[in-house]
Amino acid sequence: MKLQLQHALEQVLARNPGEREFHQAVTEVFESLGPVLDRNPHYVDAAVLERLCEPERQIIFRVPWVDDTGHVRINRGFRVEFNSALGPYKGGLRFHPSVYLGIVKFLGFEQVFKNSLTDMPIGGGKGGSDFDPRGRSNGEVMRFCQSFMTELYRHIGEHTDVPAGDIGVGGREIGYLFGQYKRITNRYESGVITGKGVTWGGSLVRTEATGYGTVLFAERMLATRGLSFDGMRVVVSGSGNVAIHAIEKAQALGAHVVACSDSRGYVVDEKGIDLDVLRQVRDVERKPVSAYVDHRPGAHYVADARVWQVDAQVALPCATQNELDERDAKRLVDAGLLAVAEGANMPTTPEAVALLQDAGVLYAPGKAANAGGVATSALEMQQNATRDSWSFEHTEERLAGIMARIHDRCAETADEYGDPGNYVLGANIAGFTKVADAMLALGVV
Ligand code: NDP
Repeated sequence: MKLQLQHALEQVLARNPGEREFHQAVTEVFESLGPVLDRNPHYVDAAVLERLCEPERQIIFRVPWVDDTGHVRINRGFRVEFNSALGPYKGGLRFHPSVYLGIVKFLGFEQVFKNSLTDMPIGGGKGGSDFDPRGRSNGEVMRFCQSFMTELYRHIGEHTDVPAGDIGVGGREIGYLFGQYKRITNRYESGVITGKGVTWGGSLVRTEATGYGTVLFAERMLATRGLSFDGMRVVVSGSGNVAIHAIEKAQALGAHVVACSDSRGYVVDEKGIDLDVLRQVRDVERKPVSAYVDHRPGAHYVADARVWQVDAQVALPCATQNELDERDAKRLVDAGLLAVAEGANMPTTPEAVALLQDAGVLYAPGKAANAGGVATSALEMQQNATRDSWSFEHTEERLAGIMARIHDRCAETADEYGDPGNYVLGANIAGFTKVADAMLALGVV
């Protein structure tokens, strides 16, 4: 790594002790930036790297609420407003017991580059809480969301900071959060949050967008080698919002999706994952993915294991960070893996990414491949601003165009910097230069 980058990285590690995931995300981006700094020494002079790694604002707050048995519970809430050079802070909220500042900062940092790649006017931010919605009643989730928003509302706004969903935050949670915002502010400010229901300001295709976008990116990437999803054996991790819609789009393109998972284990269905059953289990019954096999004779469940035990030609990690490691990658490569496209954020460990790239596997990093979600959130903001609502077909066409452009920009940038097919390099450099140029133009602020 170049000396200036090494120096800046050491500073980030020292200033943010214990934030392992944030260190990982910054290191991965810095490893790509050497050639950019060679061509643009003024980025170094203006301390763009150091400024990029220091969030503009970090908010941490207490979230008190009362559970169904009358006990007072305390969780911790976060919102990290990372960079607003390109537009209002934009990024989701994650409710999961593993959430702490380091996770929110890694996600916020990634979001800055991802949002830049979409070419939409959105900056980067992220937030969440260590609250676990699993096993909680609707009433408990509502009271938690109301308490969370009672603090968060003063920091957000359609021109300031626009949250959305992420792990543990789906349509139900967005509804409760928006309801409380509306009540406190006495404003129907639709553009303050995205992922809303379509009858109250949401956009068609937003729910599907991250999973669909990931598969559309992968489809274009496969095409660079004359391949397609048609007949391809696909394995997906996770069984939440991103995973379900990745499965749906892959199947629509002719893929044979044979396995998916959750945090407790995975299911294999050699006849192909039945999405009606998966939705019934996850969205209606709100049960673990193991319940899938109760409805599907022939399918089987493996507990306490990762889905990467199942052979695949295309792997779509759509669950969480660092869920596909070097051993998983080696096993998949030995079994004939051709491509990986990340629906989740940073799901593949750095060692696994190196192994995949060395083996010649097509690899699409999350900040490019899963950008369809936030891009469609920006389309939702557009519709809110004009008090319009677009058809499914029109919105999906916009999403497809955006994913094609992100793919091509990453590929062209990798070519330009002498490493064709390296989507990590392409995404990091293309995402970085747009934000860096805007930061330079806006002065030292
Ligand atoms: P959901 O909460 O809908 O689903 C998450 C899925 O991942 C569940 O199946 C969950 O299993 C599984 N999972 C969560 N934590 C772990 C873990 N520690 N180990 C194994 N599996 C786990 O979230 P989303 O589908 O919205 O998000 C999935 C990923 O996609 C995240 O990385 C998120 O940051 C990323 N993403 C999401 C976007 C969106 O629009 N929603 C946009 C861009 C990226 P279980 O139910 O057992 O917890």
